[in-house]
Amino acid sequence: MNYTVVLNGCSRTVQSQAEEMAAFIETNLGAAAPGRCIIFYSAPEKKDELATLSPAETLLLVRVQRYQPEVFLSTLARLAQEEAAPMYLFPGDYSGSELAVRLACRLGGSSLTAVQKLEPAQEPPACYKTVYSGYLQARLTLRRKPYCLSIARGGAGQSRRTAKVRETAELDMTGAAEASFSRMLEFKEAGRGGLEEASFVMAAGRGVDSKAKIEKFRQAAAELGAAFGVSRPVAMNAWAPLSSLIGASGAITRPRLCIAAGVSGAAAFYAGIEKSEHIVALNTDEFAPLVQAADVAVIDDYAAVLEELLRLIRQERELKAKEE
Ligand SMILES: Cc1cc2nc3c(=O)[nH]c(=O)nc-3n(C[C@H](O)[C@H](O)[C@H](O)COP(=O)(O)OP(=O)(O)OC[C@H]3O[C@@H](n4cnc5c(N)ncnc54)[C@H](O)[C@@H]3O)c2cc1C
Repeated sequence: MNYTVVLNGCSRTVQSQAEEMAAFIETNLGAAAPGRCIIFYSAPEKKDELATLSPAETLLLVRVQRYQPEVFLSTLARLAQEEAAPMYLFPGDYSGSELAVRLACRLGGSSLTAVQKLEPAQEPPACYKTVYSGYLQARLTLRRKPYCLSIARGGAGQSRRTAKVRETAELDMTGAAEASFSRMLEFKEAGRGGLEEASFVMAAGRGVDSKAKIEKFRQAAAELGAAFGVSRPVAMNAWAPLSSLIGASGAITRPRLCIAAGVSGAAAFYAGIEKSEHIVALNTDEFAPLVQAADVAVIDDYAAVLEELLRLIRQERELKAKEE
């Protein structure tokens, strides 16, 4: 089957993405399967090195300002209008899975993430992936083209067939509008009214795990301009002052944005944040009540998410400072 591979050359993990992809293609589609590779990149000095990572013989290098899913998606949708591909393959990291699902939605196709094995000879193709925390393997049939898949992690470091790229084209998308999906929210710093007046609140729960980590979380909140709050176990453990308690026995907040990390979302806590305009839950447990109630939930260790958020905001601020 004809395939299109999409690699994110703005990512530090592009090398392993390419290795995993090459191994997946060789095992599931065969080395001779016709395909093309689209590599998005932002650093022109890395262009030649990135070109060597293509697992397909036809290569399109797309230059972008930086990694921005909206720009990747609008470019892919535009290219699909010119030349429709029956199958798109994305790497198995978070951004690959996000792009696979969102591209399928835009193009009216089907998506599946973390695909381990593919039976391309069948039409529509059948895909295999592990489910129920790895206890079972599911065989799923895709219904509508284009099939947008992200592949399962693993397979990097295996000896890789290097495709001889026969055709290379380039596209410059550095001027593309970035913000059509994201929305800017302006926040007032928590003033005298503290938590109850703040337009941005960051709340830490027992999942943050220790006094030292709560202090680090408080500093991150200050850096991001958020008022700092905690759940009852955090206050009861004396990891934070009682004045920062959110909930039925503490502050009732009404922010535009509340990020709650390591908080399960018990009713007594939720009473303190339910009037938020947007709630983002960071939790390792996808079944936590707050994950179900939040507008956005990230299922991961809160510390990793917070670190990445800080990195992005610092980068954004640096870029802004340079522009001014
Ligand atoms: C009368 C009464 C009044 C109360 N008033 C309040 C109140 O005002 N405010 C309040 O908060 N509670 C109040 N409580 C307590 C409330 O019922 C809950 O016990 C409390 O909110 C639970 O706090 P938590 O979510 O931080 O902890 P837990 O319920 O223990 O949840 C911890 C969460 O962290 C997650 N987690 C663990 N590790 C990580 C990680 N590394 N990254 C991301 N997530 C992780 C876990 O999956 C879990 O969901 C009251 C209780 C009573 C009986």
